[in-house]
Amino acid sequence: MDFEKIRKDFSILSKVIDSKQLIYLDNAATTQKPNFVIDSISGFYKNHNANILRGVYPLAEQATEMYENARQKIAKFINASDACEIIFTSGTTEGINFIADSWVQNNLKPGDEILLTEAEHHANFLPWVLLAEKTGVKLKFIKINPKTFKLDFSDDLITEKTKLVALTHSSNVLGNIWQKDQLEKVIKKAHEVGAKVLLDAAQTVPHQKIDIQKLNPDFLVFSGHKMLGSTGIGILYIKKEIQDEVAPYRVGGSMVHSSVSKSPTWVESPAKFEAGTPPIAQAIGLGAAVDYINENINFDGLKKHEANLCSKLIDGLQQIDGVTIFGNIEELKQTGHLVSFFVEDIHVHDIASLLGSKNICVRAGQHCAQPLSTVLNVQATLRVSFYLYNTDKEVEIFLKELQEAIIFLKG
Ligand code: PMP
Repeated sequence: MDFEKIRKDFSILSKVIDSKQLIYLDNAATTQKPNFVIDSISGFYKNHNANILRGVYPLAEQATEMYENARQKIAKFINASDACEIIFTSGTTEGINFIADSWVQNNLKPGDEILLTEAEHHANFLPWVLLAEKTGVKLKFIKINPKTFKLDFSDDLITEKTKLVALTHSSNVLGNIWQKDQLEKVIKKAHEVGAKVLLDAAQTVPHQKIDIQKLNPDFLVFSGHKMLGSTGIGILYIKKEIQDEVAPYRVGGSMVHSSVSKSPTWVESPAKFEAGTPPIAQAIGLGAAVDYINENINFDGLKKHEANLCSKLIDGLQQIDGVTIFGNIEELKQTGHLVSFFVEDIHVHDIASLLGSKNICVRAGQHCAQPLSTVLNVQATLRVSFYLYNTDKEVEIFLKELQEAIIFLKG
């Protein structure tokens, strides 16, 4: 992987404000976009813009083809068995709300159980909390071990009452929280009792090779903007064999055979699940992001690069008085792409805004994962998260500026 070349592909990374170089370390929130992706989106608007599916003139046919090509690319990227399994949404959040409001709401009854982990992002927590209030479905949690920051799963958490297992594939605060082969075991056990499995892969699809057929969830969701695509686009994977069981989440144009018959009948997936005009340019941009990744990243190299940055960062943090790292250090050094930590007696927001004034972008807070903060009794953390374009030098500058910020804030 040519990291020097990669940096040049991202115009924003050469941005200087008040003579300070931008150091972007908030990739778990959203990634920067290479010019290739930006050009593909503006190129669509400049040369190909039309609504899809409906028009029979060449411009509309071309736009439809570009949109469907993007779906094919994404299907291949995660090794889906058929492109009809790839549904365009606005992001991870919408994908989970989709399944909560359609399949789950239609299939679960009071007393049925949904199993989550204690480390869910609110996107994979609040839809289930609301649903439980509305329907009487019960929520259960796989506990996070406060020493190892790994999940403590026991077989008895999944019973005949379990109808859905909705899990984060990797935590946006802690990184990987699964023990070796544990997730595969949970998925297998869920399927044995007839439960469906939903994986929130917002923090994994950008960083590791996903083989959806091997992983075998029923639903999987991720966001385009965390993998070099634009905002406003995400993917909901729905396994082909269960698509007939899933009702549309929204209804409207381009998804019905007949709307005037007594009971409307839906066209096949994916149109069945994409009512109305979809985010066409954004989907084409996500297709371009996949092209860029295929061309420039091999996932083994990316993992090594990100883990090296985590390792260097952790070594530096461990030299600073009062710093506590929040996560499994050994694992983060080997496979991580983010590191969360806090500094004794200083509010993390104060540090983040001081760093911000130096043009260093990191995230501070609970990272939309309040249940995790509550069970581990940690108010807030600073989170540094890496992607393909980050460098050793950036970690060095970050560590130096962090130490200066701590000295300043401690007075
Ligand atoms: N789940 C995880 C693990 C995340 O990291 C995020 C984004 N921080 C989300 C869900 C929500 O993603 P989005 O805001 O793109 O819908």
